[in-house]
Amino acid sequence: MASRLKKYLNRAIHKDQAGFLPGRQIKDNVRHIINIIEYLDLRIDIPAALVFIDAEKAFDNVSWHFLIKCMEKVGIRGPFLEAIKSIYSEQRAKVIINSNLTNPLKITKGTRQGCPLSPLLFILVLETLLNKIRETSEVRGIRIGTKEYKVKAYADDLVVSIEDPAKGINTMLELMETFGRLSGFKLNKSKTKMLIKNVDEQLKNKIELESGLTVSKKVKYLGIWITPKNINLVEDNYNRIWKECKRDLDSWNRLQLSWEGRMAAIKMSILPRMIFLFQNIPVIRGTTMFKDWQRTLSRFIWQGKRARIKYKLLTDRRDRGGFAVPNLQLYYEASCLCWTKEWISLDNTDLLDLEGFNIRHGWHAYLWQDKGKVHKGFSNHIIRGALLEVWNRCKRLVEKDIPWWLSPVDILITKKLNMEGKRWTYADLLRRSDKGWEIKTYEELKDKLSGWLQYHQINAIWREHKKTGMSKNKSKFQLEIIEGKSKLLTKMYNQLLDWDTMDEEIKDVMIKWAIDLGHPIEYERWTKLWTKDMKFSACVRFRENMEKMMYRWYITPMKLAKMYRTGDKTCWKCRKKEGDFFHMWWSCEEIKKFWGLVYDELKKILKYTFPKKPEAFLLGMIGEEINKDDQIFFQYATVSARILLAQSWKTSYIPTISEWQNKLIEYMDTAIMTQKIRQQRNNKFINDWNKFLSYMELTLGNVKITVGTI
Ligand SMILES: [Zn+2]
Repeated sequence: MASRLKKYLNRAIHKDQAGFLPGRQIKDNVRHIINIIEYLDLRIDIPAALVFIDAEKAFDNVSWHFLIKCMEKVGIRGPFLEAIKSIYSEQRAKVIINSNLTNPLKITKGTRQGCPLSPLLFILVLETLLNKIRETSEVRGIRIGTKEYKVKAYADDLVVSIEDPAKGINTMLELMETFGRLSGFKLNKSKTKMLIKNVDEQLKNKIELESGLTVSKKVKYLGIWITPKNINLVEDNYNRIWKECKRDLDSWNRLQLSWEGRMAAIKMSILPRMIFLFQNIPVIRGTTMFKDWQRTLSRFIWQGKRARIKYKLLTDRRDRGGFAVPNLQLYYEASCLCWTKEWISLDNTDLLDLEGFNIRHGWHAYLWQDKGKVHKGFSNHIIRGALLEVWNRCKRLVEKDIPWWLSPVDILITKKLNMEGKRWTYADLLRRSDKGWEIKTYEELKDKLSGWLQYHQINAIWREHKKTGMSKNKSKFQLEIIEGKSKLLTKMYNQLLDWDTMDEEIKDVMIKWAIDLGHPIEYERWTKLWTKDMKFSACVRFRENMEKMMYRWYITPMKLAKMYRTGDKTCWKCRKKEGDFFHMWWSCEEIKKFWGLVYDELKKILKYTFPKKPEAFLLGMIGEEINKDDQIFFQYATVSARILLAQSWKTSYIPTISEWQNKLIEYMDTAIMTQKIRQQRNNKFINDWNKFLSYMELTLGNVKITVGTI
């Protein structure tokens, strides 16, 4: 019954009520209050008050008669109403006095304790009051364009935001009294708190005197300390909680916990408190705070002694050999990314109109076109600034390519006070063709767009974005976070953790390659390698070979000698020098001869000369030295050579050029397959391979090579 009622109420109850109903969370309410305060910070011409209502034992005082009335009013009838009536109208209790049972007593007040229906029914009753406040124009809310923000509720925690409070507050209190007489709801004036903005001392005194409420400097709302200045959020909440955490760490220090016990203590006791703050007030700038916190945690784990395992390794997942110690910065970033979900999906226009009351462009322009750099005011907003900072830090990790959710329509928009119109995304505007992604025709889109001009503007943006490319599938971020419904924080944290710990591995690899090549390769170049270059073929075998090369997966004589303590480090090919990774793949005299032959043949095929760089031959990192039209073929040519070398790994055998040519002919099929799978243009294969085909005709005499049907 409770779940049926829940579904029903989710429609009947205004979205300003967040308590107990699915999809409504505490953090939305805190975000709302912070946004109101930010707005009033800039609009100093608007005197306002935030009234945090405290109702006396709210749950116990609901009158049943009124409850049934409320249900009838919102349209609950039939057997469902009868069922609830039977629970609530004839409750009798027998009381035992001096071991004698009394006659049944009638109970007519309060919702039943522990009954899953109770809180829902209470919300239903309260909704009557909230509606009354919403309807009453003398109680003026904070207005942005056509929107008015007046009440926000989390179960019986109510906040009313009133513009011009000297006029509105008393009307509101009267409404509550009337409502109280009907429903049993009683306002507790001494516990009801009020924050004021842009109100001078004289007006403040007047409001206090007339309403009987007192103005506070600080209010605890849903577990968060709030003041009229959002800048205090960090000190009042983060610093205060962290002090508590530190005190706890100190007292646990005396308990002589084991090393693992200490890590468990962090997970069970420190983390939840911090996560609560991260989820409710993502307002931290920079990374200094996290570094300080981590240092303290690390000192606790290692008891002040030198750390024997890097913190990063401790944070790794258990199934990968880590200890799952929380990385606070990543939890914070994960919370922030979950908050940016609203900017991405653009559904919650009430929230966005308030949070973006003075932004100049569409939200996606800030997320994707770096508009935050041009419009500095965007980041002056405490939430927007913090979220954008984290977004920019993580953007490339969560979305490597142009995301499906990106809306060129929203990018083009000059922001008005209230959001309107559908923000079509690339998922709506593009289609896949044999040339890859392209914008649908004007005919197909004209119902969605405002006209030709917009169509051209969208095309112009797409031409830019196309250079980055749009991925074949939706990103993990989109699937899990933007379209996901549950456990978002955990999922986001795990995504970030994967990248964070992988990074470590990659840095290691990058350093080793830099030593071998004699020069470092920029991080961007590596990123391009695994986001673009590696995708030259649909064949997983090639990708695997490139990954193994990059991660230096092949076991060398050096490594073997270390593993088995044999002492024999000599190269299997030349039997002279020590065989480390780079020797075995490049600098060995014998291997060099093979690469030399391949290089000479390649020059013959391509009909020009180019530098013989190991990063091109071993890693597939090609630059302008190879003509654009030849790059795909070059990848096939070098991957063939590497696969041959890998096949004779651990032997003294050196592959020959005709073996290499045969391998390439064999791999032509994969190129044809790739063209089919990826629906590339029909002449793609011929363009990529024609130089090789004519070279083979020459070398093999007049034998015509026929390629299977394309
Ligand atoms: Zn050698």
